[in-house]
Amino acid sequence: MAVNFPPLFSRLGLDRHPRVFAQPGEGRVLSDNPATGEVIAYVSLDTPETYEREVAGAAEAFTKWRSVPAPVRGQVVRAIGEAFRTHKRDLGELVSLEVGKIRAEGAGEIQEIVDIAEFAVGLSRQLPGQVFPSERAKHRLMEQWLPLGPVGVISAFNFPAAVWAWNAMLAGICGDTVIWKPSLLAPLTALACNAIAEKAAADLGHPGVFRLVMGEDPIIGERLVADKRVPLISATGSCRMGRRVGQAVAARLGRCLLELGGNNAVIVHEDADQELALRAVVFGAVGTAGQRCTTTRRIFVHEKIAERFVERLTAAYRSTLGRMGDPLKDGTLVGPLVSRMAVEQFQDAVKAARAQGGQVLVGGEAAGGKGYFVQPTLIRAPRDNRLPIASHETFAPILYVFTYADIDQAIAMQNSVDQGLSSAIFTDSIRVSERFLNPDGSGSDCGLANVNCGTSGAEIGGAFGGEKDTGGGRESGSDSWKAYMRRQTSAINFGGGFELAQGITFE
Ligand code: NAD
Repeated sequence: MAVNFPPLFSRLGLDRHPRVFAQPGEGRVLSDNPATGEVIAYVSLDTPETYEREVAGAAEAFTKWRSVPAPVRGQVVRAIGEAFRTHKRDLGELVSLEVGKIRAEGAGEIQEIVDIAEFAVGLSRQLPGQVFPSERAKHRLMEQWLPLGPVGVISAFNFPAAVWAWNAMLAGICGDTVIWKPSLLAPLTALACNAIAEKAAADLGHPGVFRLVMGEDPIIGERLVADKRVPLISATGSCRMGRRVGQAVAARLGRCLLELGGNNAVIVHEDADQELALRAVVFGAVGTAGQRCTTTRRIFVHEKIAERFVERLTAAYRSTLGRMGDPLKDGTLVGPLVSRMAVEQFQDAVKAARAQGGQVLVGGEAAGGKGYFVQPTLIRAPRDNRLPIASHETFAPILYVFTYADIDQAIAMQNSVDQGLSSAIFTDSIRVSERFLNPDGSGSDCGLANVNCGTSGAEIGGAFGGEKDTGGGRESGSDSWKAYMRRQTSAINFGGGFELAQGITFE
């Protein structure tokens, strides 16, 4: 059945996009609105032939793009960032429509693109190499960083725009071309974002740098992962996906940057500013309807403050129940999950928690009706803290509450899961916070470890990523750019004498 496009399609050019249709058809995937279950549009997928065209095109464009001076590449990325700034409202709304984020979070996601573009522009004048003292007279020893090639970017549904940008803006200034394979749960956001980037680059005389391939994983995703012309696959998604992708890329000795699932925890110590902790926990656990990789999924509350803190948390959770609804409506705090399947996974997790002795303090139900809504859910672990379901990442707003007696125990419980993405402690004690961040590595085992800040809402300035089953990759700020370049070490003899390292003579 044909659908009517929403008005923002014309503002974003999606109504004229050659891959967007009002009717279903062969080789098309539908994009639906998780708040209503209604179809927004149909999008045509790639075939092996069109995939081939895109990857060959990315390889060809790379040979030109890598020769453009990095600061000039930075100017192209600047123009892209500006274009996203211009379209922030409409793109944010598209993210809300397609994956159900509330308006502020949809807009925030596009702001992240602007931010990473600005970061990349500055970096385009650095990309520093190093010079080392050589042990040989009249020799220079140095390292430089070179463009890598076409980079494959596989993104998850829950950050349908920003994750691509984290990769694409950095890869762009590094001299790489980008082949984006987005989630089929958010194809329209991908089409709109890629078209904006590609147009901004083409307007400055650099077409073909930013490319998109879309399709089912066995047809397009796995083809990209196995493609030797793509030296780096940066993949964001579940640990299950990371295991498959990691092995396939390793089999061809390619490079992988993996950003996978999290099971993030907050420790609330006895001396914590409880008001601050409460707000951070509720935002971290309920925000984005629990569909952030950094969502707070477990809290460990010191037993001395547990009763009162859990009471307050329960009250705060109850107040969010009345704030569920249309993500684009003012005042909504909790939007829908992304799909019917996600609702079923939520229901399975709540059922398992109950069977394991967990006590549902608030929520626990799917809302029913047309959209994919579930209640923000607070579950208290049994007294012995044994709740196996809490070791799994369920991509929904479920928060498991545990108590602890001493900080070592809390850190051990926090670290006891397979994933290692984000963690946080709330305390006013420097001893306790330093125990959490101990430089000997005995504190938090996560890639992100915050003090008096929640687990979600990272800034782009620092490197972002996690350890253990989260995959070990780092994206975004700091020196993450190195993942998108290849390193070359050079010894340069400017004296003319034949001198070998390690004192070796070979006369
Ligand atoms: P998912 O694993 O189902 O899919 C992620 C992407 O991988 C999609 O584009 C999918 O098509 C692709 N994919 C899956 N199997 C593939 C294969 N064999 N070959 C090639 N591509 C393949 O994840 P999702 O449901 O879209 O997203 C939620 C998950 O992502 C959660 O686990 C969340 O924690 C994680 N995530 C992690 C980060 C991070 O930075 N660590 C950020 C966002 C999301």
